[in-house]
Amino acid sequence: MSLFNFNPKLSEKAEAAEESLQEAFYRIDEKCRHNSQKVLKAFIGNNVGEMHLKGTTGYGYGDDGRDKADRVFADIMGAEDALVRYNFVNGTHAISTMLFGILRPGDTMLSVTGAPYDTLEQVISGDKGGSLKEFGVKFEQIDLLEDGKPDLEEIKKKSKAAKMVYIQRSRGYSLRPSLNVSAIAEICEAVRGAGSNAVIAVDNCYGEFCEYVEPTSVGADVIVGSLIKNPGGGICSTGGYIAGKHDLVELCANRLTTVGTGKEVGCSLGMQNRELFMGIYNAPLAVANALKTAVFASAFFKELGFETFPKQEEYRTDIITSIKLGSPERLIAFCEGIQTYSPVDSSAAPEPWDMPGYNCQVIMAAGCFTMGSSIELSADAPLREPYAVWLQGGTSYYGAAAGIIGAAQRLLDKNLLTL
Ligand SMILES: *Cc1c(COP(=O)(O)O)cnc(C)c1O
Repeated sequence: MSLFNFNPKLSEKAEAAEESLQEAFYRIDEKCRHNSQKVLKAFIGNNVGEMHLKGTTGYGYGDDGRDKADRVFADIMGAEDALVRYNFVNGTHAISTMLFGILRPGDTMLSVTGAPYDTLEQVISGDKGGSLKEFGVKFEQIDLLEDGKPDLEEIKKKSKAAKMVYIQRSRGYSLRPSLNVSAIAEICEAVRGAGSNAVIAVDNCYGEFCEYVEPTSVGADVIVGSLIKNPGGGICSTGGYIAGKHDLVELCANRLTTVGTGKEVGCSLGMQNRELFMGIYNAPLAVANALKTAVFASAFFKELGFETFPKQEEYRTDIITSIKLGSPERLIAFCEGIQTYSPVDSSAAPEPWDMPGYNCQVIMAAGCFTMGSSIELSADAPLREPYAVWLQGGTSYYGAAAGIIGAAQRLLDKNLLTL
């Protein structure tokens, strides 16, 4: 029974979709149980106390909460060390800090999963001043094979000459499959098998807690992500992280602050530490809710006659679902529906705009407590073929599922959908 006036046929289809997902939900719950225990164990093992939840000011020397959060996060990620900071302004900043922290003039960064995420183009080879290219860092790319799998033969050939092998786990704005942790393990084996000592770096955005282990447990040297996505649990209001080998994390800290101060400085204003610990603690549950939302969206929109990626029964390594809606009108209506059924700014109307870094207009719907947060239910789409929407998040499955039915209702209201 819904408290909203959804078309009864739509509600029926939603119920049927949910009915078909009981086993998928069970698997998500089991993963959530495992990852929640992993997080709890790290809190207990590191003896997190009330004192660590408090803020500091000024230089932040001896900020025990900040240092404790690094330790807890490293343990959760199966890494030697971590740099978890609200001072990272977004995921791109954390990735950029990692790249500039580790790469030196003359080095080659070898991306083995095709073109990196859109916002990194400027960082790597942009003309706005200060890109890696300007500092003499070379960039090379190996595309994924037709079937979306990494080209292990090419990787073996080229990784020896590279300083860094760069992997993007999630699909970004493409319809390629995301790379699960076992595929990342295969890349790591190929790289080491070829006798390469390259640093293996993973853009881990949207992947955290979607599987039982993270890439750092299967051979990746360093992973990076955003705290307004999965690992912030819907509670962190800003920030990012870098986790991995101790020496690499040190280099990144030198880049984030200064050489000589590294991880030792940076105060935790106000309630930042408390938010960070609460967010990490909540993250496996938030991700489980987002995963349920994702499989529900796949199943429901398939019932409605649309193609979805991945399909409901496919294994998931991230929280993203894309739905091929087939026309700009449907894209816009879908985003309007998501916005209308959001807890914040439900009366706002999303509109396509010329977002920097994209070659076409982009529309985004998000009624979130944290601006731009995408662990909360959000949808976005570039207005170009194949007119697919990228949907992610949902810190409460029940609220998010209503939002998705609401998006379908909007399509119906505008005569863009027949039942
Ligand atoms: C979100 C994301 C990033 C970083 O984007 P920000 O908006 O700067 O946080 C990088 N790579 C991928 C694959 C992402 O999904």
